Amino acid sequence: MLKGIGVSEGIGIGTVLVIEKQKINFDKYAIKSVEEEIARYYDAIKKFIIKTQEMANEIAANAGEKESEILFGHIIMVQDPYMQGEIESLIKNGKCAEYAVSEICDSFISMFSSVDDELTNQRATDVLDIKNSLLNILLGIEEINLKNAPPNTVVVADILTPSMTSGINSENIVGIITENGGATSHSSIIARALGIPAVLSVDNALESMKNGDTVIVDGSNGNIIVSPDKATFEEYSKKQLRYIKRRNELNKYKNATTVTADGDKKLLFCNIASSEEALKAKECTAEGIGLFRTELMFLEKSRIPTEDEQYAEYKRTALTFRHKPVKIRTLDIGGDKIIPYLNIEKEENPYLGNRAIRYCLKQEDIFLTQLRAILRASIYGKIKLMIPLVTCTEEVQAVKKAIETAKNQLKESEKCFEENLEIGIMIETPSAMMIADILAEEVDFFSIGTNDLTQYIMAVDRGNDDVSYLYSAFHPSVIRAIKHIIECGHKAGISVEMCGEAASDPLMIPLLIAFGLDEFSVSAAVTLKTRRAISKWSQAHAKIVAENVLKMKTEREIVDYLKKEALSCGGIL
Ligand code: PEP
Ligand code: MG
Repeated sequence: MLKGIGVSEGIGIGTVLVIEKQKINFDKYAIKSVEEEIARYYDAIKKFIIKTQEMANEIAANAGEKESEILFGHIIMVQDPYMQGEIESLIKNGKCAEYAVSEICDSFISMFSSVDDELTNQRATDVLDIKNSLLNILLGIEEINLKNAPPNTVVVADILTPSMTSGINSENIVGIITENGGATSHSSIIARALGIPAVLSVDNALESMKNGDTVIVDGSNGNIIVSPDKATFEEYSKKQLRYIKRRNELNKYKNATTVTADGDKKLLFCNIASSEEALKAKECTAEGIGLFRTELMFLEKSRIPTEDEQYAEYKRTALTFRHKPVKIRTLDIGGDKIIPYLNIEKEENPYLGNRAIRYCLKQEDIFLTQLRAILRASIYGKIKLMIPLVTCTEEVQAVKKAIETAKNQLKESEKCFEENLEIGIMIETPSAMMIADILAEEVDFFSIGTNDLTQYIMAVDRGNDDVSYLYSAFHPSVIRAIKHIIECGHKAGISVEMCGEAASDPLMIPLLIAFGLDEFSVSAAVTLKTRRAISKWSQAHAKIVAENVLKMKTEREIVDYLKKEALSCGGIL
């Protein structure tokens, strides 16, 4: 079995079509006339633009407007005055157009590849596509187009160029395998948009398969099985059917409103860790972002991200969702989230130590920088601020004071921000739960963090396998805590969200509906599943189930009963 990165879900079974690595050779000939060579170069650009425009239209029609944007980007890039000037000046020095294009594009490629940032690296792939395309035009080489591939084809290539992908359709291509490219590459965007299973970054893919081989592409797990035996073939054929059935069922919930079976409206948000993930959340028709975990930005770098870097990331996310809520959680480090360069002292009990808001309130500079970045981005959408691991009122008051300081600093530097930024807190400690009525008077919303709430109520380390049998949000104590938090929030007239993993658990959903939870925030992968599960429960049914659960004494009894009820109403897919 070969392994790669599964970038487009599903199972494809078909016949291999190998696209050999394209080697473009040319002679560095002596040019006759500089003017003529420059004219040749600009003629190639003209042809490139016409061809790319046609491909973009084709992709827009097959996959969607958004997916064609990369190609419109190529049209802008190829006309970049700096790039054109550099190429022209090489030609003026007597070099042929092929050599000039190749040299200058290569220097851009190495510049973009050397930056430690995935989006900038993607620019290198864009320039490589442009270079190959221009050279093919200059040399009169016909480019490969997959439009005419026979039905049931699995494409195996080094990388898929835009010209190849523009011809792809899910009628003839049932799987994509490449040696290069990652989750954000052009190939994976197109594969996802067309619903074609794809596995990228497969080492030696070209050597391991030949034309005509039967191959299974498992895009959900990143597995490739070449020439499967009969049993494996049958096993995967069944898996494929199950997957298609499930996908068709879930697709009914795309772009739908989130409602219970009897029409009570809920809001369904996504949990994300970057602006890139916000795009995924948008794709699965989330109604906003219920939790933006900002730690990733700090973890990915070897230093604290600057105010401008953070601002750009929050702004991108706000713009992705425009008028829909984006709840940005302030830095939640400590516990299991260690950032080496912050030099937090090693603690005996890190989960009970210098974590999250406790750390931020002590590190004024880091905290104010993040608050200013969030405030500045708030004018671009409906950003709300969320504080993790609150245990007492004093912390909320201290945060409010810090927000005032950040606002004053922005006023002094004449930067705009939303004056009425909403502030909410995560309820994820027993203390916050016990004083939820008091805290509700201080804030605009609650978000229940069941991952930590379960850990702290049950006194069980969420990462310790030895005690994991105790780690369950279905323990009567956690269920009562959830009910209490929602009641306190509603009594004070504020909305209550859940952003812990329990929000997407099909067994927890009836309880949350019965308790009146307003907003569910879940990972992108389970958004449609959660919308579907909510739609299966009427409030009347959920209330009877919740009443029975509240009388039960053990976690086992509760889980078994909820399973039975969920199966009876189709709440589990
Ligand atoms: C939680 O604790 O439930 C939560 C959502 O936060 P995290 O998992 O990031 O601690
Ligand atoms: Mg938490």
